[in-house]
Amino acid sequence: MAFNDQGGAGFQKKMYQGNWQCSKCGAAITELPFEPDPSRMDKLLCRQCHMERVRSFRR
Ligand SMILES: [Zn+2]
Repeated sequence: MAFNDQGGAGFQKKMYQGNWQCSKCGAAITELPFEPDPSRMDKLLCRQCHMERVRSFRR
């Protein structure tokens, strides 16, 4: 466990930086844990809306 000098969680996801907008609440999105598909730019969700959606899927 020596290759993490950030201290903490132990795994780090690659984050993609950009300038997008949430299709649901309109919030600015500057970082995503995946590379957004250009054809789905209009379906991007901010972290919060994404969490809500995931939660609603899991019932
Ligand atoms: Zn949102």
